[in-house]
Amino acid sequence: MRDLETFQAALELKDPWFVAGSRFDAATRRLDIDISFTKRARFACPSCGAAGCPVHDARPLTWRHLNFWQHQTYLNARVPRVRCPACGVRKVSVPWAREGSGFTLLFEDHVMDLIPAMPVAAAARTVGEHDTRLWRVIHHYVDGARARDNHSKVTRAAFDETAARRGHDYVSLFVDLDHSRVLFVADGKDAATVGAFAEDLTEHGGDPAKITEVCIDMSAAFIKGTAEYLPKAEITFDKFHTVKIVNDAVDEVRREEQKSRPELKKTRYVWLKNETNLSSGQRELRDGLATRNLKTARAYQIRLTFQEFYQQPTRQDAETFLKKWYFWATHSRLQPMIDAASTVKRHWDGILRWHDTHIANGILEGINSLVQAAKAKARGYRTSHNLKAMIYLIAGKLQILPST
Ligand SMILES: [Zn+2]
Repeated sequence: MRDLETFQAALELKDPWFVAGSRFDAATRRLDIDISFTKRARFACPSCGAAGCPVHDARPLTWRHLNFWQHQTYLNARVPRVRCPACGVRKVSVPWAREGSGFTLLFEDHVMDLIPAMPVAAAARTVGEHDTRLWRVIHHYVDGARARDNHSKVTRAAFDETAARRGHDYVSLFVDLDHSRVLFVADGKDAATVGAFAEDLTEHGGDPAKITEVCIDMSAAFIKGTAEYLPKAEITFDKFHTVKIVNDAVDEVRREEQKSRPELKKTRYVWLKNETNLSSGQRELRDGLATRNLKTARAYQIRLTFQEFYQQPTRQDAETFLKKWYFWATHSRLQPMIDAASTVKRHWDGILRWHDTHIANGILEGINSLVQAAKAKARGYRTSHNLKAMIYLIAGKLQILPST
């Protein structure tokens, strides 16, 4: 009898539940623990809470529990249905598992501890279960945590799209800039995703009218969506994306010019990298080319100067600086640089706004690489539903288990 008492204590079973027996099968390395309830026990009605309802009947159920040493362990119990005077016949909820799950709460806890550290398929192999069963557990806890999540203090957001599946399909990530966490993941990358975010924000106690700052790239869809669904938000265009537009223009000048100036072949990185990232050899190469009256070298100077915009001490200095830069770039007779300058002109206020807010999408870039790394390790996700749950889990800073 001693082992039954040990199991009972270890499982923290309380009256009227008790361990009635245990069986160990050496061939299958499986331990079964049978739980029963005392005769004439009465239970509270699971629907209305009325105490002392008599047992109507009982049905056998089995739950996978944490391993006993290296052996898979199962709990078996006949779960009673009670007769409630108000509600009729109702199945009692057991203290060790939630309704409808084939796992005990402790087993699910263990799974949720494993998931952020490894792909679901690997966690499934570790515990010896099929991954679709684990996904069901993950969705249950993520949905629950998101339902409790409060967005009432959110005022500054950033958003960007990320590839959901190879080549096509995107999801858009909406992050809280002040708490560096994903608030919402939307299917697609169009203006309507901002509407879905605004709706989700409202459902979590937030208010789209309280969003005063957003940081985005120059995607027309996000600009339109922001105007439509976040009416009080001012846009800051992400610094990295803005510099990239000018950078890409330099590369376009180089590709065109290289057709007639073969010395430019294989110099792409020399013009794209920042000074500090160049090796001394690359620097020498570039300085040599810079003296040869190349269009690429002029475009490169325009790009370097553009970056100084971000070092201006005040917004006013920055605007004066940007006007001069714009004049220079548009008179450069280098079409890609003129086009880049026009893009800057069309997004003038949002580019300048960086000097007021100093916000950037760096957080998003970081989250994005976490997501892409998880995706690569998992060799993709079968559904965007699974991908979204994983993003919330690794970047949502959710409270997965309700506070007790
Ligand atoms: Zn009842």
